[in-house]
Amino acid sequence: MAISSILGYPRIGVDREWKKSLEAFWAGKIDEETFQRQQQEIRLNHLRKQQAKGIELIPVNDFSNYDHMLDTAVMLGIVPKRFGYEGGVVPLSVYFGIARGTKEATASEMTKWFNTNYHYIVPELGDALPTLTENRPLLAYREAKEKLGIEGKPVIVGPLTFLKLSKGYAANETDAWLERLLPLYAQMVRELADEGVKWVQIDEPIVVTKLSDEDAARLKLIYTTLTEAAPSLNIMLQTYFEAVENYRDIVSLPVKGIGLDLVHGLDGNLAAIREYGFPADKVLGAGVIDGRSIWRADLNEKLALLDELRGIVPEERLIVQSSCSLLHVPVSTERETKLPAELKGALAFADEKLDELVLLTKAVSQTADAVREQLNAADKALGLLKNSAARNRRDVQESVTAIAKQEPGRSKPFESRYSAQQHKWQLPLFPTTTIGSFPQTAEVRKARQLWRKGEWTNEQYNAFIREQIDTWVKLQEEIGIDVFVHGEFERTDMVEFFGEKLEGFAFTQNGWVQSYGSRCVKPPVIYGDVAFHEAMTVPETVYAQSRTNRPVKGMLTGPITIMNWSFVRDDIPREQVAYQLAYALRQEVEALEQAGIGMIQVDEPAVREGLPLKEADQADYLAWAVKAFKIATSTVQDTTQIHTHMCYCEFHDMIDSIEAMDADVISIETSRSHGELIYSFEENTYKLGIGLGVYDIHSPRVPDVEEMTGMIDRALRVLDPKLFWINPDCGLKTRGREETVASLRNMVEAARNAREKY
Ligand code: GLN
Ligand code: ZN
Repeated sequence: MAISSILGYPRIGVDREWKKSLEAFWAGKIDEETFQRQQQEIRLNHLRKQQAKGIELIPVNDFSNYDHMLDTAVMLGIVPKRFGYEGGVVPLSVYFGIARGTKEATASEMTKWFNTNYHYIVPELGDALPTLTENRPLLAYREAKEKLGIEGKPVIVGPLTFLKLSKGYAANETDAWLERLLPLYAQMVRELADEGVKWVQIDEPIVVTKLSDEDAARLKLIYTTLTEAAPSLNIMLQTYFEAVENYRDIVSLPVKGIGLDLVHGLDGNLAAIREYGFPADKVLGAGVIDGRSIWRADLNEKLALLDELRGIVPEERLIVQSSCSLLHVPVSTERETKLPAELKGALAFADEKLDELVLLTKAVSQTADAVREQLNAADKALGLLKNSAARNRRDVQESVTAIAKQEPGRSKPFESRYSAQQHKWQLPLFPTTTIGSFPQTAEVRKARQLWRKGEWTNEQYNAFIREQIDTWVKLQEEIGIDVFVHGEFERTDMVEFFGEKLEGFAFTQNGWVQSYGSRCVKPPVIYGDVAFHEAMTVPETVYAQSRTNRPVKGMLTGPITIMNWSFVRDDIPREQVAYQLAYALRQEVEALEQAGIGMIQVDEPAVREGLPLKEADQADYLAWAVKAFKIATSTVQDTTQIHTHMCYCEFHDMIDSIEAMDADVISIETSRSHGELIYSFEENTYKLGIGLGVYDIHSPRVPDVEEMTGMIDRALRVLDPKLFWINPDCGLKTRGREETVASLRNMVEAARNAREKY
């Protein structure tokens, strides 16, 4: 009979009690013992829940006090020297030090976990001396067994994935590092086998990316070694997020089970299974329930897929599981009381996915008739949403289809727009500007709270926002900035603000997911056709413009960023959703222009987050992302200056796409790439307006004039002075007022100095 499993469960808890416990500990409000007790309670609760729901193979060691990559690193004794670690089990203070920094040592870098919004701590191999400091999977296994009688499945990050995601070594040292790490893994699995552990899940998501021949050989070495070290242990080699690259090599590795993503990698993986079959000595972990979407599954369709698989892999060698860890979805829909009924019925967060898995497993193992009613209930719920008015906006669909058929573009090429804009705006050489937000002080947040609670009227709140705008318009004037912004005081967040004003969005009360460490985000849900309803940013922008003669830039979040930071409906292609958003934003751009705003910035910091893992799919994604941006921005007059802004990641390999967006001016974060980005522009001879951030806004430090001058000079060795703008790296909302004013004064002075030189 088939059995059910998941690859991991969310850590945060229904009430984000995990986050609260962590933050209380960091703040010194609870001691370590209390913290450990709380964490254990949370962990055990999650296991109890899976047990109660009827999940048969329950993961352990998927839980973490911060991040599973960091857990793996400290387990292997990989602690950078600067944290003063001296061997033995890594203390919590060091563990959190690596994650968050200490007074003496800076934190390790954090980066995106494949193409998700989860961020892991990047292990620094460099000067570390690896040793197995403790066998964490074993401890987690024992805990589940002793406390709850659960025969758990320990989860471990596999050696190849761990190595590939680590830094601090040169490519030609890879094998040397593998030689150091592999014996530790071997020891770990041997101890698991000695304990009588039946299944271990070793995560190797790296195998869905293109591997070199060397890596393929390493994979073979790793799994041969581990199997020899623990012959009685069943190793499930788990892959996810895409189809595996070399199916035949992967399934012939000497392990007991292969876990495949049959949602995000369905086409590739299924085609390979159909073509090459599946080895008769292995168990298939069939990842049929989407671990990354919040939507209820079409269970009849899933059952049909499992039925097909059953024709290839006998039932007793089938594990029905989630496509990846449920870490990426919120905990439970149970306490969502404010969503439209047709939406709520169509949602499945982690707990509901457990139910789906148990149900599907019953359906394949017994007869589908026993659970027919429940299978059909899913159909019905999905049908309700499908036929809802929200998903059937003829007006939106017709307009967007028509627009998407055309190739969007400004009426004139950049060169002619440039002269028209120069003529109109009369900006100095190296115009100075900022990215949009000014400090969101405690006062600003308080005001918004009072207003949301109904303690302040709209009039009171609006008056407050206007005062803030007044203050900052004056400050910008005093400082001598050339292009102003209104400051974004009315916005909590650059996506939520627009989501609340557009149609087709819903907001959960508890739909939190872990982003990094204790930080959780609650993405909006795009569940219907997206439509513009009324102007979203016009009043504040026009107000700011009425207070000054300098140009005020309108400020919007772009279609791709809104999409990538939301949970998105999956009944239509993402491309369509992007065009709907773009069309809605176009109406906002046009409304701003009509209201006399002649510079409009459309931010796209998250473009890269949607980049597909498979290289072959990337060009297509970038093409429609660029097209969406152009749909939103290209209907304006030649003299209207379109700005965009990007940050958070590397852009060096995307410059052609960035250029294709055809924004008159882009401001782009430079400090994180330590200036490397500048050289990418050298090769590409970028020919539109560009501001490379001249200072990092992530720190309260006030950079001096010389430092910024250095950045400017460096950029101007590569870029055309006529096209160069001077601005900070990103928005200033997390900064304090004093430091912001001081930094901007220095920035303006650096710009003035530069004007004299060039
Ligand atoms: N306009 C936004 C701001 O300044 C941009 C934020 C971002 O790039 N993440 O806050
Ligand atoms: Zn930014």
